[in-house]
Amino acid sequence: MSNARAIIESIPRVSLATLPTPLTEAVGLRAALGGRSRCPRILLKRDDLTGLALGGNKARKLEFLIADAQRLGATTIVTTGAVQSNHARMTAAAARVAGLEVTLVLTTREPDPPRQGNYLLDHLFGARVHLIPAGPDPRIAVAPDEEARVCEVVDELRARGERPYVIPVGGSSGVGALGYVFGTRELVEQLTAMSVSPSRVYYASGSRGTQAGLELGWRLFSPSYRLHGIAVSGGEEEKRIRAARIATEAASLLGVDVTIAPDDLVTNQEFIGEGYGIPTPGGLEAITLVAERDGVLLDPTYTSKAMAALIADVRARTIDPGETIIFLHTGGAPALFAHAEALGGRL
Ligand SMILES: *Cc1c(COP(=O)(O)O)cnc(C)c1O
Repeated sequence: MSNARAIIESIPRVSLATLPTPLTEAVGLRAALGGRSRCPRILLKRDDLTGLALGGNKARKLEFLIADAQRLGATTIVTTGAVQSNHARMTAAAARVAGLEVTLVLTTREPDPPRQGNYLLDHLFGARVHLIPAGPDPRIAVAPDEEARVCEVVDELRARGERPYVIPVGGSSGVGALGYVFGTRELVEQLTAMSVSPSRVYYASGSRGTQAGLELGWRLFSPSYRLHGIAVSGGEEEKRIRAARIATEAASLLGVDVTIAPDDLVTNQEFIGEGYGIPTPGGLEAITLVAERDGVLLDPTYTSKAMAALIADVRARTIDPGETIIFLHTGGAPALFAHAEALGGRL
């Protein structure tokens, strides 16, 4: 779609991220996986280096979300997540960049979680934090009464004369998804400049805003690659519906005539392990391998599971070694510090 470039430029966006992020080659990982005869060339799209408060994919979404909040005259941002949410940490930082207040409603499994990793940083940004207990199912990362608690917080802020702007979990709304439409355009431009035509993009999929943006971007910019989303939490059926809704909303914000159906938004469910935020053996192997071979930090909740999928596909010889593939590094390293025990056991 030739005018997609111009349309995305016309949407209000605040600059929060250092863009474009680098596209680097994982030379050591390729060697570790058998070298040129067995492993494709692996490029890392370094969205862990977006630069906003230790980086990550949420910075791209927040550029559009914060602009939307400003357009609506918001004075304070409210968002939700797990206690080690990267999204919450980056939202707190983004709000501060924009001179706004911020309240976080965070789901926890422990009554007094250690102030470590992202949760420590939330406090450094001076966010107001409401902790709410998780439900009994370890696979479900969101507290059962989260929505009700957000409504209470919003009412209380309004009563004090604030104008709250609520960002859904993961920044995954139609507005937020524009971040990865923009991100797709950036990646396609880099690939064109490098004259590379990768066959696949692997990425970790959680609340699905990244997927919605990448899938819409794929339809607008027609890249050479196919998208391989690796789920990090369950609930696929309901999440596909959500992703389709978000992608369709983003398309309508851009005024482009693209429909995306839930069944177009499949993710690989095989690398979730026991549940969201619970490290897996394959993920821990991926963390140590990429750290030792390429000096790059993956995270225990998202990127390690996506990289475990890429490694498994290379080992199963399902990718031709002559191909080039991309790993979208979405960030998350601050959560490493909250998982010292799981990691320490392996070192
Ligand atoms: C949030 C997050 C993701 C997943 O993005 P969604 O848009 O929520 O699917 C992947 N990796 C990291 C490090 C994240 O923080």
